[in-house]
Order: sequence, then C-alpha cells, then structure tokens
Amino acid sequence: MTRGHSAVSLTTPGPLDKVSHVTDNVHPEIVFRDDMTVELVKSSAQDADVIWAARVSTAGEQSLDDVNSDPKRAEGLINYLARERHGSPFEHTSMTFFISAPIFVFREFMRHRIASYNEESGRYRELRPVFYIPNKERKLVQIGKTGKYEFVDGTTEQYDVAISAMKESYTLCYANYKKMLDAGIAREVARAVLPVALYSSMYVTMNARALMNFLSLRTSRADSHFPSYPQREIEMVAEKMEEHFARLMPITYGAFQKSGRVAP
Ligand SMILES: Cc1cc2nc3c(=O)[nH]c(=O)nc-3n(C[C@H](O)[C@H](O)[C@H](O)COP(=O)(O)OP(=O)(O)OC[C@H]3O[C@@H](n4cnc5c(N)ncnc54)[C@H](O)[C@@H]3O)c2cc1C
Repeated sequence: MTRGHSAVSLTTPGPLDKVSHVTDNVHPEIVFRDDMTVELVKSSAQDADVIWAARVSTAGEQSLDDVNSDPKRAEGLINYLARERHGSPFEHTSMTFFISAPIFVFREFMRHRIASYNEESGRYRELRPVFYIPNKERKLVQIGKTGKYEFVDGTTEQYDVAISAMKESYTLCYANYKKMLDAGIAREVARAVLPVALYSSMYVTMNARALMNFLSLRTSRADSHFPSYPQREIEMVAEKMEEHFARLMPITYGAFQKSGRVAP
C-alpha cells in the first residue's frame, strides 16, 4: 500500500539519483514521482470460482457443491482449462484496483476494453502538480528498428538532459495552468497545457481472464509463448497487479504461467 505520498524536499535542485515523491526547492508545490501506485481495493476472486463455473457443464446443479470446495483437488482442471483456452470459467471473478500513474500510462491502459474504469476529472477538480520523471534504472535509449528494438542504459549526461528538460517543461506548463485558473479560465480549458506525464488516478475492475490478457501484453517475459514489449511504465503497474492476482488465485496464476502466459 502506498497511499498518502509525502513529498521530500531536496537541498539541491537538479537530477536525482532516486526520485520517489520529491519536490525541488525552487518550486516546492511541484512533486516529481518515479513510481506507480496500485492498491487492491476489493475482490471476489478465488480459484474455486473457476471450478464451479466449469463443472456446471457436466454436473449441472451438482456443481453447486463445488462453490466451497478445496480448489487444490481441481488443480488439474484449472490447468486444463488454461492450456486448452476454455476461458469463460475465469470470468466469474472480480478485482478492483486503485491506480495512480501518469496519463500516458492510462492512455495505454484504457485500450483494454474488457474492464470497468472511473478516473478523476480535469473538468471538475483542479489537477495537482504531480509529474513523472524516470529513475536511473529506467533504460533511456532505444536501439534497432521499430518492431525489433531494445532499450539500453543511457549515459549520466543523457539522464541529466532528460530530467532537467522534463522538470523545466512540467514547471512551465503547471505555471501556465495556474495562471489561466487565476485569470478565471475554466479548468477544462486550462488543462490543455498540461503534459501526459501528469499523474492521474482511477479505479479499474477486471475479471481474471481479462487480467491475464492484460498481463500477457503489458509485461515482458522471455518465457512467454508470445513475448510482448510494453512500455516500462505500464509494466510497472502490471507487475503490481500481477502480485495481487498471484496471491488471490495461486492455482489459476500457476496455470497461466504453465500456459506460457497466454490468456485463456
Ligand atoms: C506492446 C504493445 C504495443 C501497442 N501498440 C499500439 C499502437 O501502436 N497503436 C494502437 O492503437 N494500439 C497499440 N497497442 C494496443 C493494442 O492494439 C490493444 O488495443 C491493447 O493491447 C488491448 O488489447 P486487447 O484488445 O486484447 O484487450 P481488451 O480490449 O481488454 O480485449 C480483450 C479481448 O477481448 C476480445 N475483444 C475485445 N474487443 C473486441 C472487439 N471489438 N472485437 C473482437 N474481439 C474483441 C479480444 O479477444 C481481445 O484480445 C499496443 C499494445 C501493446 C501491448
């Protein structure tokens, strides 16, 4: 759980070694973050849910006996369903996450249509000055051609250029946003100047099948049957969601892994 970000003041402005919730002393109202928040808000998701949904096929009303059954006894069935891509029994589950991440992450996230979303509004509230800057582990340089490229570490100089350009842009954009609000311009008009690195917040609810599809596409794993190459920042969100999923539905999660991380 990472609710309640406390901003830490820096003694010197400029590039940062590790930038999780920091401000600079020139513009103390602005917060720079390099991390993503993912909280599991509620869930109705357990391995047993897959079993009764699948067993109605052959057992009819007797499948009700499986509602509180020990899922360990049906591990083979869950593996079979995942392997053969009988996906609908995985849909009788629900996981709701609170997520705080930059708008450019949400743009990618919301392409996943098999989910329910509610996001904070830039029309109804004044947006807070919280902006994304990458930490030093974030690979900065892309090499190779589109569709066949990889990311490698940048130099310290490249990192410094990126961080100072971002901080300068964000600071100017937010100052202009505030200038317009102070002049009486509507929030929905003034927000046009804000960049996609601004943090937003949303709730998203997914079932296990949709979540497995999301994880297969938004994480990069060499052992996947179909390795994906997502943007690192959405992968940071996906990795945290995956931890919750693995804890809630360990047998289903194991079946997903054994099936090469292909969504059933
Ligand atoms: C690495 C990467 C790069 C990408 N690059 C781009 C890009 O350059 N430009 C771009 O526009 N998008 C891009 N995308 C987004 C991508 O095309 C998908 O929109 C996104 O990954 C959502 O996947 P999805 O449709 O499987 O998910 P969901 O919308 O959650 O759908 C889940 C599944 O439901 C089924 N489904 C849902 N809706 C329909 C429908 N209307 N018709 C038929 N079946 C449906 C499909 O089986 C689908 O897989 C990229 C995604 C990734 C992972």
